[in-house]
Amino acid sequence: MSDKIYRVNMNDLTYKIEEVPSKWMGLGGRGLTSTIVAEEVDPECHPLGPNNKLVFAPGLLSGTTAANSGRTSLGAKSPLTGGIKESNVGGTSAGIMAKLGVKALIIEGLPEDDNTFYHLHVTKEKVTIEAVPDLVGKQNFEVLDEMLERYNKKVAVLTIGTPGEMKMLISNISVKDPKGKLRSLGRGGLGAVMGSKKIKCITIDAENYKEVHYAEPEKFKEASKVFTKSLQENPISGEGLPAFGTNVLVNIINEAGGLPSLNFRSGNSENAEDICGETMAENIKDRGGSTTHGCHAGCVIQCSQTYNDKDGNYLTSGFEYEMIWAFGANLGIKDLDMIAKIDALMDDIGVDAIETGVTLGLAAETDIIEFGDGERAYELLKYEVAKGTPLGRIIGGGTGNLGKLYGLVRVPVVKNQAIPAYEPRAVKGQGVTYATTPMGADHTAGYAVATNILNSGGYIDPLKKEGQIELARNLQIASAAVDSTGMCIFVAFPALDDPKCLPALIDMINARFGTNLTADDVTNLGENIIKLERDFNKKAGLGKSDDRLPEFMKYEPLPPHNTVWDFTGEELDSVWSYLDEK
Ligand code: SF4
Repeated sequence: MSDKIYRVNMNDLTYKIEEVPSKWMGLGGRGLTSTIVAEEVDPECHPLGPNNKLVFAPGLLSGTTAANSGRTSLGAKSPLTGGIKESNVGGTSAGIMAKLGVKALIIEGLPEDDNTFYHLHVTKEKVTIEAVPDLVGKQNFEVLDEMLERYNKKVAVLTIGTPGEMKMLISNISVKDPKGKLRSLGRGGLGAVMGSKKIKCITIDAENYKEVHYAEPEKFKEASKVFTKSLQENPISGEGLPAFGTNVLVNIINEAGGLPSLNFRSGNSENAEDICGETMAENIKDRGGSTTHGCHAGCVIQCSQTYNDKDGNYLTSGFEYEMIWAFGANLGIKDLDMIAKIDALMDDIGVDAIETGVTLGLAAETDIIEFGDGERAYELLKYEVAKGTPLGRIIGGGTGNLGKLYGLVRVPVVKNQAIPAYEPRAVKGQGVTYATTPMGADHTAGYAVATNILNSGGYIDPLKKEGQIELARNLQIASAAVDSTGMCIFVAFPALDDPKCLPALIDMINARFGTNLTADDVTNLGENIIKLERDFNKKAGLGKSDDRLPEFMKYEPLPPHNTVWDFTGEELDSVWSYLDEK
């Protein structure tokens, strides 16, 4: 049975199961979501209105036995950036969608009745759309538990909390992981888009699926072995990440002077020792929990973890570097357990760690909160954001909007999206990616930290301009292609360092689909995706002046290196000028 497009129309609560158009056949993940959004969504539409669409798609290799291939992409017009958005996540949804034959789930329209929320249940044969008044106002873990009980645990679950229901721009979408906890996707306010469509949760049948078909199973197995070995033998993906999780980066980035601290006032944090991966691993060793955990089945890197409190009771899981940086260094909270408590709350209510943490870091420049006040941060999220009070909605609007409301100048956003955990003045290749990716500030769009700091794929001095334009361009093209396969970002390390890794990845795609793709085809795929995303953004009203970092970074030297952001507009425009002219 071939894959199908599942299309839900929330205007009249109907669905269709359609053949996959031939032009979409070779696409998956970001390649597919961005193509569908570019073809079917009016770039000038209101992102929370009837003409936006929410598109879920598993990667090309999702559902196979390929290591680390279980990511689901989500695309839409972003209410935060005003441009196209793709965001992806592990969890259980990608593998199940792929095995069920769901090439993409497209949700369009808005229901007439604005007071009712719905639950979509997707099976091979149909989509059931039911009103769920009892779930309204509930948070993610409660919704998850109810859905798992109802379907005897045999479903993938995607859900929004109350900030998503209230269409807050910091809201995201949570996805069940293999251990029954939650992972999140949808930076750029895609939780608000799901809320605007009045969808509280989606479940996908995990009982009646078939294993995916391989055109050449033996070739696939061979290539898969080479690929897995490459992941396991790389010092970062094979040792550093499994031992300390992504939080291994706190000390590394702090030592490089690139750990944004106290609302991007320094590249060093005095809290680094308290919040770093080594401290976290020590706590896990003493208290129980686990330093290795995969966010989806088939992950051989296992950068994730479960984290317990001082009494050995479970506190949170998927406790990642970005979260720990945002609250520990940028908002200045010293207590790792407090950050873990906030992480669990944020998983429950469904808000993005980067957007929320950076918003609170900026709020610490006002009378809303003081730097370092973890209790206040927790209370603001639990009693203001989750309940939708006026103050909660101000925070829920994200960093850029808070800056405007309070007349602040030092607002760390690109295309209105909060800058993640690498200071662009001290990690300049990453700054070029932030400025020029169609996504708004997004580290995963082209992870130049690899070559600027981690010596992966060579070394380019992070404090100098030389080589950064080419680095950010090449990494963005590669990332757009890799985001289409369903692979997680950390395959980038072996892909940059081991000449066998990328060919093995391409061999797996060819063996799965019976194609003859070459490395050039993969580069072309990445370029095509970025081209169509940039074209969408242009039509949506985003221009060259949006491909810039915040002005304060140009004139405010960043300790400890006292460097400023010194790329000209012309230099930044040169990243994609050849594509724009095509
Ligand atoms: S390495 Fe980390 S992010 Fe990647 S699949 Fe494994 S747990 Fe998820």
